[in-house]
This record gives sequence, structure tokens and C-alpha cells, in this order.
Amino acid sequence: MKILVFNCGSSSIKYQLFEMPDGTICAKGLVQRIGEKHSEAFQKCGDAEIRSDELIENHQHGLQVIRKMLTDPDKGPIKSMSEIAACGHRVVHGGESFTGSMEVDDEVEKVIENYSDLAPLHNPPNLTGIREAKKTLGDKIPQIACFDTAFHQTIPNVAYLYGLPYDMYEKYKIRRYGFHGTSHRYVARRAAKLMNMDKYDADLITCHLGNGCSIAAVKAGKSIDTSMGLTPLEGVMMGTRTGDFDPAIIFYLNRKGYSSEDLDKIFNKKSGLLGLSGISNDVRDLEAKAESGDTRARLALDVFAYRIRKYIGAYLAVLNGCHGIVFTGGIGENEAKMRCRIVENMENLGIRLDDKKNASIRGTEGSIEADNSKIRLLVVPTDEEGAIANDTYNIVSGGK
Ligand code: AMP
Repeated sequence: MKILVFNCGSSSIKYQLFEMPDGTICAKGLVQRIGEKHSEAFQKCGDAEIRSDELIENHQHGLQVIRKMLTDPDKGPIKSMSEIAACGHRVVHGGESFTGSMEVDDEVEKVIENYSDLAPLHNPPNLTGIREAKKTLGDKIPQIACFDTAFHQTIPNVAYLYGLPYDMYEKYKIRRYGFHGTSHRYVARRAAKLMNMDKYDADLITCHLGNGCSIAAVKAGKSIDTSMGLTPLEGVMMGTRTGDFDPAIIFYLNRKGYSSEDLDKIFNKKSGLLGLSGISNDVRDLEAKAESGDTRARLALDVFAYRIRKYIGAYLAVLNGCHGIVFTGGIGENEAKMRCRIVENMENLGIRLDDKKNASIRGTEGSIEADNSKIRLLVVPTDEEGAIANDTYNIVSGGK
């Protein structure tokens, strides 16, 4: 059964075509800079690559280009779109309405639309992708929505409520939702498997460290706390986002003349590793600079690691200890130096890294703890698209 998975952003569409249930990737592609002068599209199917430089005006047009590439007579993986049994879509915000992936009907569409004001950059393009896929593929092909927030819906109220007047939660649904749920769930399950444990027995701290970063406390396979909040701005420091800080900074800067729009841009786009270093949001660049003696680059990397250590400490308390700490995302999977910075000098908590094992793992699954470490340390490359394909397959085939 062929399943097409979409991750639609405001100006891009990423997609992968899977053969399920075995999970083989038949093709993957990207349409980017939609609506801009230099829009482009490419697809890889085995060794065959297709590129298109045609001007892509909007998402509908993007879907048409994808259709053309998927059914390309020489380089495409399928002859006709009718071979596709279902589509899975990444949807960022499902609020309190969804605890798992769902087939999209009018009701589900409405909820995604309603949560757009909490995820204005993500939910509208996610919904456009669903609507355009429906138009392009026809009503008969099920569209499944997989929510970044769904895995964290098991978080208890003590962890999801803020210390705000309760009616702000009742009136405006202001609470912690958490994101990257598909990734945390996937790596938690993989890690349990690697540890020869049942997924409902493993207590884990999962660290998704990419350009966006979040940490989750997973007890017996369920998320019980996570670092991102109402929006993906809260939590650890990220590539360009602040993470946690004193909210009074907002009033202070307001009085200094910064508007809400200015601050939104600064907190989301100009802070984090980029803001502190003044150089880059990319850990690879910063490591190179730090190596050659740049003190701001080193400081940014140290603050980044320190913030993550604090969350690990907090979640060790929340979980009353854990079986393992899992690293994923571009940084978690590839950056051995950063993994070391995060967990070094935590021996008294039962955390000991094996430097050799750590240095040898880059972008692959593996364990990096020393033999005498009480807590396992694991690297698990995330596979959000694969997890979405799996959920989609399970829903359309009636499985679980
Ligand atoms: P992501 O958002 O998951 O793609 O992660 C992006 C971050 O991962 C950037 O800070 C990169 O510096 C870091 N990174 C380190 N090594 C790699 C790699 N080999 N491929 C992609 N990202 C990497």
C-alpha cells in the first residue's frame, strides 16, 4: 500500500512516498520558496533525480508539480496517483482535541482552523496542504492528520497549567501543549526496543535537538511533561529562539520602545544560538568558531548545553530517575561534542558517557553510555515522516 506523507510549511512542501507496511521510501522531494521568484522543486527516487525551476505560485501549484514528478514516466515511482492509498499530514497544533492521529473530515478541519491563532505560522499551511491534497487526489483518498501536540496530551494538569489566573485557561485555553510529539513518541519507542524493554515499561528523557529543541519526560511510554509550551518558544534555548526567560523582559523592552511585533521577531528569529553568538544558529559553524578561539561562539554553545542539563535534572526529579536519556534531531544525532557538554559531570546522578562510543556515533542508532552508567544514553535518529506513514497505514488498514 502506497502512502504519501506531507509536511507543508508556509512556503514549502516536503513529501515522502512510502510502501507500507514495510516502510520502504519510494521517493522523497521538496518544493520550496513557493510564491517567490526563485521557487524550485526536486525529487529523489532511488538514483533518479528530477529538478524543476518553474515558478511555483502557490500550494495548489506545488501539489501539481509534485504530481508531475511522482508520475514522471522515466524518473517517477508511480504511473498514476490512483496508486496512492492515503496521505498523512504533519499538523503542528491539535490543541486539546486530539490525542492521536485522525482522518480529516469537516469537523477535524474546523478544529485545525480554530487552533490557527495558536500556531499562525504552521496550522494554516498544514490545512492548505490537506485541502489541496484532497483536491488533487480526490475525495476518496483518506487524508490523515498527525498532530505534533497529540503525544503530549497525556501530560497531567500540574505540568500543563501555568501560574496564571485559571480563567485564562478556561477562556483562552492557555496551557502547555508541547510540540515535536511525533518525534518524541518515535524515539521513545525505538529506544525502548534498543534497551530490550516494552514501550510501556521505559521511563525516558527524550531530547529533540534540532533548529527547534524540546525535551520530554516519558513515563511508561507516555509523555508526562515537555519543555515547549503554548507555543514552540518556551523551553530550552534553540537555534534562533530564546527558550525560557523572565516574562517581565517583555514589559521592560516595551517601555524601551519595542513593539509586540519587534519582540516576536527578536524572540523567535534573532535569539538563541544566533543571538548569543552573533554568528550563526548552526552548531557546526559555532563549533568551528569556538575551536578557533571565538569566545562568543563558545559561550552560546555552553549556554545551550547548560539549559538542556537543567531540564534533564528537572525531568529526573519528575520521573523519579529514568532508564535512559535519548538524543535526536540534527544536533542530538550528529554532534558528539554537544552531547558530551550536556551530560558531562553528572556521575552523581548515575550518568556516565563513554567518550569513544560517543565520538563514533553520528547519524546512526547506538548507545553511548559507559559500562558503569546507571542511566542508558542513546542516540536515535528521528523519523517523523516514517511515524506519520505508520499512523496513516494503521488508520486506513483498521490496525492499531
Ligand atoms: P534539524 O533542525 O533537526 O535539521 O537540526 C539542525 C541543527 O543540527 C543545526 O544546528 C546543525 O548544526 C545541526 N547538525 C549537526 N550536524 C548535522 C548534520 N550532519 N546534518 C544536519 N544537521 C546537523
